[in-house]
Amino acid sequence: MKYFALAYYKFTPIEDPKIEVRKHKIFFEGRDVTTRIYLSEEGINGQMSGQMADVESYMAWMKEDPRFADMVFKIHEVPENVFPRVTVKYRPQLVALNEKADPTEGGQHVSPGEWKEMIESGEYLLLDVRNDYEWEIGHFEGATLPPLKNFREFPEYAQKLSEEVDPSKTKVMMYCTGGIRCELYSAMLKKRGFESVYQLDGGVINYGQKEGNKHWRGKLFVFDDRLAVDIDGEESEPIATCCHCKLPCDTYYNCANMDCNNLFISCPSCTEVYKGCCDHPCTEAPRLRPYERLGGNKPFRKKHLVDSQATCSECTCKI
Ligand SMILES: [Zn+2]
Ligand SMILES: [Zn+2]
Repeated sequence: MKYFALAYYKFTPIEDPKIEVRKHKIFFEGRDVTTRIYLSEEGINGQMSGQMADVESYMAWMKEDPRFADMVFKIHEVPENVFPRVTVKYRPQLVALNEKADPTEGGQHVSPGEWKEMIESGEYLLLDVRNDYEWEIGHFEGATLPPLKNFREFPEYAQKLSEEVDPSKTKVMMYCTGGIRCELYSAMLKKRGFESVYQLDGGVINYGQKEGNKHWRGKLFVFDDRLAVDIDGEESEPIATCCHCKLPCDTYYNCANMDCNNLFISCPSCTEVYKGCCDHPCTEAPRLRPYERLGGNKPFRKKHLVDSQATCSECTCKI
């Protein structure tokens, strides 16, 4: 059986998002799908996986609704369902931010083809607005990589950047995983005086599908069970290193110690030695998830997606 994943978002007024949540849940009932979908008064941010028939009927069902008729769905093949369950939730904000941002005031959308040419022109500040653990395993060549731990730190970074460079003269190309963060972050930059702000349409996912890995190095961090993927389906060289032995590697794990849950990069042999833990003290912690070599990092990554306290900025999931 082949499985496919969808990623999509749309800022559009939704009068009663809780009704939409219910409609979604009813639609998914009895289907072999997993989802992580958030609805708010300002729109929808969704990811879903399932077999093609279900994926297609979901897209068709959404497009019957005039508010979602022009929704752009990014679709790609995955080895199996990639989310822990069917999650459809109401959230007050689509991307939880401490600062108000209006996506209609955002930067200009740039297609992957134009993006590639703009990189080659060398005239732009290429800004990766993802968190540090995301760009650590993969990013565009020459990108500025702000040391952000979570999305709440971006407004402060935007302020600092506007003081370090001349915002009226600095042309900014901004990118994230699927595009939704840039919709808001680009508006934040413009509010701070940046006049030329461009955002990669559909994010790195869309770029990989249209332009392959040209100017890209490493892998793409994704907010599902896979954690890291090659953007064009071709195996890429790791740009990160094992936190234990420093050999090239880009496999993420969540520490097997449930009370640590640290996200770290580890090579297969160190993972074995440390039994899936981030550090020696964790290997002796009281609440350890059993380490199963054949299961790879999967049991831990689910834990990381489901139980940890922080919130992921791409999809507002708990991560
Ligand atoms: Zn190692
Ligand atoms: Zn640990």
